Amino acid sequence: MAPLKIIPLGGLGEFGLNMMLIEYGDAAIAVDCGLMFPDANLLGIDLVIPDVSYLLEDGDKLKAIVLTHAHEDHVGALPYILKHLDVPIYGTRLTLGLLANKLKEHDLEDSAEVHEITAGEPWNIAPFRIEGIRVTHSLMDCLALAIETPVGTIIHTGDFKIDNTPMEGEMFDFQRFAAYGEKGVLLLMSDSTNVERSGYTPSEREVGTNLEQIIEHSTGKVVVSTFSSSIPRIQQVIDISERCDRRVVLSGRSMIRNSQVAADLGYLHLPRSFMTESERWQDLPVDRLTFLTTGSQGEPLSALHRIALDDHKTIKVEPGDTVILSSKFIPGNEKTISNLINHLYRRGAEVHYEKVSEIHVSGHARKPCCS
Ligand SMILES: [Zn+2]
Repeated sequence: MAPLKIIPLGGLGEFGLNMMLIEYGDAAIAVDCGLMFPDANLLGIDLVIPDVSYLLEDGDKLKAIVLTHAHEDHVGALPYILKHLDVPIYGTRLTLGLLANKLKEHDLEDSAEVHEITAGEPWNIAPFRIEGIRVTHSLMDCLALAIETPVGTIIHTGDFKIDNTPMEGEMFDFQRFAAYGEKGVLLLMSDSTNVERSGYTPSEREVGTNLEQIIEHSTGKVVVSTFSSSIPRIQQVIDISERCDRRVVLSGRSMIRNSQVAADLGYLHLPRSFMTESERWQDLPVDRLTFLTTGSQGEPLSALHRIALDDHKTIKVEPGDTVILSSKFIPGNEKTISNLINHLYRRGAEVHYEKVSEIHVSGHARKPCCS
């Protein structure tokens, strides 16, 4: 019997770059293909991608890349890797929908072979049999994977938290995990950025109350920045803005494209009154406007960075305005984000971010209390 090999090409002991190879005989599959944002030591580097030179030695070895969910640190490197490796991609409906935008940007939408998968419907990639198991995280349509190999079953949890009141989508599938547990598992692969914290990570819903209070009491325009893949957060901001009689203006290419894809697939409910930044929102009073934008990590080309530097074509932040950074400070980005916040304060804005307001909850599980 051949040995089963588990080879991390990235993502172990670091934040991002997730790509795990599972190899048996002359066949291998990869779980995810993520990127990492460079830290300050990587001067001149825009993105970090996994090193796939091992796979290039034998171009036929890799039979599939199976995606657990659509976050950048799990799918962001795919367009770069697909230029070197011709390999089929498997992912759920929303994951593939959001990925399609990326493939289009790289002119890969016609050449890439993609297969939609559904939780609870196993399929074979010899010698493996794979089943997606529904997990909850900070966006929808996320999977853990049960990978049956000739020597036993591997459970790869993907990113997850157990959220019993998710904003949208299906519930965490305890039964399938239990069923595999009963049959016997050779290896459980699971990690969490919250492993040092005890207790339960709050539900996505709990952010809503705090966001609503801030938006309700804002007297100028509101700018909310989050990841363009954070569909539940985008939905919350849209719903709160509607209740506060504010029109939502989507700003930034990925925010506009991802929101439209999620809306087309039924994962996001865009109000009929939403606008994009190129439309005539200037005719409305500032206290009737919420802008949804990317750039919460201080990315230099993002809309929020340009707004902070007063360098955006149409959106200006002025005294009386409110800016909300509704996402985590990714380790390594703290200094860049602090600079961004300083610039926003300089423009006279009231700024809310994770250290001063509860406007973000993690998508990752904590360890259980053991007292
Ligand atoms: Zn994730």
